[in-house]
Amino acid sequence: MTKYIFVTGGVTSSLGKGIISASLAKLLQARGFKVTIQKFDPYINVDPGTLNPYEHGECYVTDDGAETDLDLGHYERFLNNPTSQANNLTTGRIYQTVINKERDGAYLGKTVQVIPHITDEIKRRVQLLGENNNYDIIITELGGTVGDIESLPYLETLRQMRWELGPDNCLVIHLTLIPYLNAAKELKTKPTQHSVKEMLNTGIQPDVLVCRTEHALSMEIRRKLALFCNVDVGSVIEAIDAESIYDVPILMLKEKLDAVVLTKMRLPDRKEPDLRKWKEFLGKLKNPTGEVNIALVGKYNELQDAYKSIHESFVHAGAVNECKVNVHPIHSEKLEGISYEKICDILKDYDGILVAPGFGERGIEGKINAIRYCRENNIPFFGICLGMQCAVVEFTQNVLGIKDAASTEVNPKTANPIIDLMPDQKKITKKGGTMRLGSYACELKRGSKAQKAYKALKINERHRHRYEFNNQYLEQIEKAGMTASGINPDSNLVEIVEIKDHPWFVGVQFHPELKSTVEVPHPLFVAFIKASLEHKRSN
Ligand code: GLN
Repeated sequence: MTKYIFVTGGVTSSLGKGIISASLAKLLQARGFKVTIQKFDPYINVDPGTLNPYEHGECYVTDDGAETDLDLGHYERFLNNPTSQANNLTTGRIYQTVINKERDGAYLGKTVQVIPHITDEIKRRVQLLGENNNYDIIITELGGTVGDIESLPYLETLRQMRWELGPDNCLVIHLTLIPYLNAAKELKTKPTQHSVKEMLNTGIQPDVLVCRTEHALSMEIRRKLALFCNVDVGSVIEAIDAESIYDVPILMLKEKLDAVVLTKMRLPDRKEPDLRKWKEFLGKLKNPTGEVNIALVGKYNELQDAYKSIHESFVHAGAVNECKVNVHPIHSEKLEGISYEKICDILKDYDGILVAPGFGERGIEGKINAIRYCRENNIPFFGICLGMQCAVVEFTQNVLGIKDAASTEVNPKTANPIIDLMPDQKKITKKGGTMRLGSYACELKRGSKAQKAYKALKINERHRHRYEFNNQYLEQIEKAGMTASGINPDSNLVEIVEIKDHPWFVGVQFHPELKSTVEVPHPLFVAFIKASLEHKRSN
């Protein structure tokens, strides 16, 4: 029978429920359990696909083409297992299902209500994931903070599930904050006491408290929390600020979070977690022998979460290359309206340049300028999605001399639509969930940089875009020295371009950053960092 663990958040948002959930899952997985993590987001959007990155950070895409919360990225990076649409639900999706059922007549004669219809639908979604996949344990992270109006239906579902399944099969972990008052030189437990009281109002007693803190929790504080929040002392877990998110599983192991969970759920304490690979990665991460400076040219740089998976992929690729990767965000608009000399001057100290994905016209010129600099000066270049499209535009404009070449996303009237919508996209008017999404196959050209990096001839990568390379220009472009080294075997679409006579110039239409994990760092990121290191050494 599948066991269910819920992770709720108290006191404030941004305490890192995703990382705590992923760390616990990692420890349980390392003990031999089959685990997955699910995230419930209380907002009304059906998915985060239409949200601006400034609102909600990066939109993470799964193999089955779901546009999801960025926490799913952490789940995949930690567990090295793919997630799917079933791992992320929003209030919007729950209501949409219930309303569609009502229209279909599924509730004929009944008044459709939050309780039981919405709560039943939430429950169905939690249990479906367990039943369909034979998981031993499902960890469900409830987005938001206890006390939010929007969270109430989820908490009620949790209360019911706990009542139905019993405490051995359904456990509640409450992640909370223990603030430190500098003036009093004291850690304060009161906000946590209030937060637990708030949970009790909904009929839920948390079993385990995970306490985010800047200072170690003394036994006295632990006892106090246990007494006032009605948990055992052993179930008060310290989550002290960590140097990196990848330290958290080790910290949770020391605090025995996994052992407490197993005891409470009466699961066999089969073996010590096997974390050899994880520790090997941490060892390399913490003992770099060199460093590289990479410029990340994008336009959502104000918010680090907007490029979350790219940042994490650099961490993984850095560890493989035993070097520290310093990522420097550069706003693409800063590379516009200035002379080429000035642009070269801004970019001269970087060992490699990544041009980020994105949407719309703003900042495009700056991206193109950065790419020209890489191409002309043999600087390692990695373009992702819009970054690849800009590389093709730059090449067509400056090497083929077709000055008005453009993506129709930027210039719908151009006579040379080198990046364009395919006929099936032209018909689409609705914005939600209608891009080319999810995993597609790609065949690699033997001997290309991509093929050498992947050490394979056929790969699968995840997509999220509407526009594509226009094959009418393929012959011309290849003759001039830019190769299409990755092709979709079914649609013939160009998925990878590279420049032959350049140390490392690769643009990909897909999102490699979504598939880099601690155990399997992405080969293109690894190769890009290697090329950047070589560039640095040769200069
Ligand atoms: N805006 C481009 C498109 O829709 C690129 C999208 C992206 O970078 N994810 O094709």
